[in-house]
Amino acid sequence: VSAVTISHPSHIRHASPGHPERPERIAAFLSGVLGEPLLAARATEAPLAPRAALERVHDAGYLDIVLAERPETVHADPDTYIAPGTPDAAVRAAGAAIAAVDAVVAGGIAIAAMRPPGHHCLPQRPMGFCVLANIAIAVRHAQAAHGVGRVAVVDWDVHHGNGTQAVFWDDPSVLAVSLHQWPHYPGTGAADERGGPGAAGATLNVPLPAGTGHDAYLARFRAEVLPAVAAFRPELVVVACGLDAHRDDPLGDLELEDATFGQLVRDVRGLCRALGAPEPALVLEGGYDLHALEASGAEIARAYGASVI
Ligand SMILES: [Zn+2]
Repeated sequence: VSAVTISHPSHIRHASPGHPERPERIAAFLSGVLGEPLLAARATEAPLAPRAALERVHDAGYLDIVLAERPETVHADPDTYIAPGTPDAAVRAAGAAIAAVDAVVAGGIAIAAMRPPGHHCLPQRPMGFCVLANIAIAVRHAQAAHGVGRVAVVDWDVHHGNGTQAVFWDDPSVLAVSLHQWPHYPGTGAADERGGPGAAGATLNVPLPAGTGHDAYLARFRAEVLPAVAAFRPELVVVACGLDAHRDDPLGDLELEDATFGQLVRDVRGLCRALGAPEPALVLEGGYDLHALEASGAEIARAYGASVI
């Protein structure tokens, strides 16, 4: 099976002093991931996502503003900055997610390790450190370029994936699943948010109380998420692989271990295999403790690189 780790140094120029969403996150995550020989063997540069791929999710006017050349950093909201280096990084972060989808559809495994993250971004607004909706863009690419019909997004970032939910709210072809601390930023993601009138049940939110740890999290994952994804019968699964549900993360209060993330990868791989779907495409979202990023990245890569589940 061919494996690929996708990143690009352009993300270093997406930076704002003192902000937790910082370049060191990628170095830490990659240092864990690249300890797995299979994933180290093919580390490739994230391509620029084509403009047409971005426009499947975002308004052209939004793209013109957010991707414009700018001499200095601006703040779209108190959390979200757009620096001079942001446009290149953001378009390559979307390109990394697209490349990860391309790789798994071709029969491989792939981890997209780029930033800024994407799952809070809305079609017309940056939000929550996110500038482009990387995974939503990659899902639309899979449908348009590969003829994939049904796609499931499984988001285990500690924060609700509100942007992904918003993009696919009324689309029955995409199951948007999010497990997240509740109540917590951004405030959405209640269990009764189940999809729009044209897509009832194609959104699944699993809100979790602060303090939820390895055993309780996996129990909910196996009782609620895996059966729902199996019943949806996706042809492709994309994981919004945030690591901020880790017990050491400063932006969340869940208590997952390094090993939890490896087990989640094994569970999703097993499900994909049972469905006859490609391997899941893993796309980094949040995660703000550098040691946790490295150690959990290593667990993820070990679980993902192992040929036997
Ligand atoms: Zn997060």
